[in-house]
Amino acid sequence: MARRTTRLHIALTCAVLTSATGASLGAPRSSGTPMLGFSADHADEQRALEQRFDAALSAADQRDWLKLMTTEPNHVGSPHDKANAEWMLARFKEWGWDARIETYSVLYPTPRTERLELVTPEHFKAKLHEPAIKGDSTSDVAGALPPYNAYGGDGDVTAPLVYVNQGMPDDYKELARHGIDVRGKIVITRYGGGWRGLKPKLAQEHGAVGCLIYSDPRDDGYGAGDTYPQGGWRPQDGVQRGSVQDMQLYPGDPLTPGVGATPDAQRLALKDAKTILKIPVLPISYADVLPLLRALDGPMAPPAWRGGLPIAYHLGGGAAAKAHLVVESDWNRKDIYDVVAVMQGSSEPDQWILRGNHHDGWVFGAWDPLSGNVALLNEAKAIGALAKTGWRPKRTLVYASWDAEEPGLLGSTEFAEAHADELQRKAVAYINSDTNSRGFLDMEGSHSLQHVLNQVADGVTDPETHVSVRERARAKMRVDGASSKAKPDDKENAKLAATGGDLPIGALGSGSDYSAFLQHLGIASLNLGFSGEEDQNGVYHSRYDSFDHYVRFGDPDFAYGVALSKVAGHTALRLANADVLPLRFGDFSDTLARYLANLHEAIDGMRKDTASQHQLLDANAYALVSDPTRPIGAPARDSDVPAIDLSPLDAASKRLKQSAQAFESAYDARAAAGFKGTPAQQREIDVAMARMEQALTDPDGLPGRGWYKHMIYAPGLLTGYDVKTVPGVREALEQRRWDEANRYAAVTARVVDAYRVQLDRLTTLMKQ
Ligand SMILES: [Zn+2]
Repeated sequence: MARRTTRLHIALTCAVLTSATGASLGAPRSSGTPMLGFSADHADEQRALEQRFDAALSAADQRDWLKLMTTEPNHVGSPHDKANAEWMLARFKEWGWDARIETYSVLYPTPRTERLELVTPEHFKAKLHEPAIKGDSTSDVAGALPPYNAYGGDGDVTAPLVYVNQGMPDDYKELARHGIDVRGKIVITRYGGGWRGLKPKLAQEHGAVGCLIYSDPRDDGYGAGDTYPQGGWRPQDGVQRGSVQDMQLYPGDPLTPGVGATPDAQRLALKDAKTILKIPVLPISYADVLPLLRALDGPMAPPAWRGGLPIAYHLGGGAAAKAHLVVESDWNRKDIYDVVAVMQGSSEPDQWILRGNHHDGWVFGAWDPLSGNVALLNEAKAIGALAKTGWRPKRTLVYASWDAEEPGLLGSTEFAEAHADELQRKAVAYINSDTNSRGFLDMEGSHSLQHVLNQVADGVTDPETHVSVRERARAKMRVDGASSKAKPDDKENAKLAATGGDLPIGALGSGSDYSAFLQHLGIASLNLGFSGEEDQNGVYHSRYDSFDHYVRFGDPDFAYGVALSKVAGHTALRLANADVLPLRFGDFSDTLARYLANLHEAIDGMRKDTASQHQLLDANAYALVSDPTRPIGAPARDSDVPAIDLSPLDAASKRLKQSAQAFESAYDARAAAGFKGTPAQQREIDVAMARMEQALTDPDGLPGRGWYKHMIYAPGLLTGYDVKTVPGVREALEQRRWDEANRYAAVTARVVDAYRVQLDRLTTLMKQ
């Protein structure tokens, strides 16, 4: 998975940039600057080690492996997916790792019947097939599944069609103003605006009997650029497959929530699995949707809903356009193969640094996920080469290539659930990657890792501009923040970036394999990758996501593959070798304070918007502006925004800030003294530091979705991949559940206080 659609990507053509402080942004820094968690001597040794690691990386290796792994379809249950896992196992062993395959047995539906026909006003049968394309050598390779949405329901329905734009909550409000409802109908939704799985889920909640999801050419076809094979954008028959599992409830195997899907695990009956939808869903191409949309009558769709097809976009909803939709799947269990490789730590074997990327794709998966997977393999080979010279990491490295991420993060989730206790005792951090391409380093994750990641990114050179990848990311943040399309977050990031200090890292929602580690187990996590200069969106989750496409439009010389190996590898090696773990809790405390300021602003904004809506309704304004020949009703009256009590959270945040300052000075003092202490003392400090993130979890989890236990970061219930920070409070506010907002302000404050108490204990240990 892992796809960002909301970022505005502006290519930088100028390599000579100047920071706000006037300092020139030259080549990455080498020695002489402090390295978090290392004494001066050890920092020099670590830099030398990283240089040897870098020398063992190879763009040619990454290219060869990508080619090899993408020769046949790699979806869950395919022979080549298993062959890839076995091939990786052999490589890890050859490179000196202690490697194994962990097999889980998960529910994985595959399509048996798929049919879509327009029955009135004329007959049209949808192709539902992606033909071979000249110049794409694997596009005629057999063995791919047809385009489908995993975990949609079975069904055979004939019903009127309605166009609901992106199928998000605001779209249904707008439809209601046009007097159209979707009960008993098949909705046509357009990709974008929120996570795919929410479209059929919301359609089902509104009473629809079927859901189509199509890729509009305006978004990732000819409206974006030349289509494949001339350019990289979506050709007319290209389809975006994807999961529609209700992952906001819990990801992973739908039959084994909270426990590993081992052979003897207790399983839910299929009918009781809450993350499976009831209505049939199909993803379709813009060639297949065109006759359907053309057949719709009724009011014109609002301007923002219209796409790039050569038709007038109508809403439909009457009996004029009817379709017949059939989807039936085989609801079988499949074995999935997680490849797990361990390099035991020399002095702290029970402290684990985890690094992962998935290996299953929807078809060939060159971009998603194998571009990131070959970078991970390259790190493992380079670390293996270091080990062959007698070197060992101080802490244990665990490298993993997960299976079954695409249908719903199954490989990583089942692993995390099966090993939950041990991971919570031993894991220090999890470092994830997924799709990788040219452009800017995306840094997201737990804010206690913000500083170490910034230091690492400052030491890796951008292949195109030759400044550090951090300075290039800084320039991107500043330019994005200055754009007329900048959102409040972009502006705030730009302001922080302009100070010349650490770049703020983004918070994690969902969409890749970090979810179970971070949000279920409370293990500090990072998600890393380069993006921003690609045409990948055009083949995302289609059979044209191929080696041939990637080497033309992704990262042709694998320079960014090597850059990703450096960023992720150096981060893993620093965490593995540091004298004291390189975590900074003051960065978390500062970030939390910003989130709370955002919450206050959000409440004020809602109150103002609600008051102005009420004034307009009271003045009958909506009725007076409605064209009587094309009437649009007034919006439903929003409830008043009462006083929300965030004071417990504000107070907890203030207390945390003081404790974090005390901790940072104790840490700095210990660093200045060269991190001296007995091994037992150091170990006690490390263990306490590694467990800090777990203090941010609550055993009861978030309201209505207890699997998600982290009280600061979660994927949004109504956004899908996008993060909601302080989610218990923020989501309650957004859904106008005022009592719940007050309740979770108190719950979250308790969690922040528990974190602070643990931090105070750590400060005492630090001062020993
Ligand atoms: Zn992926």
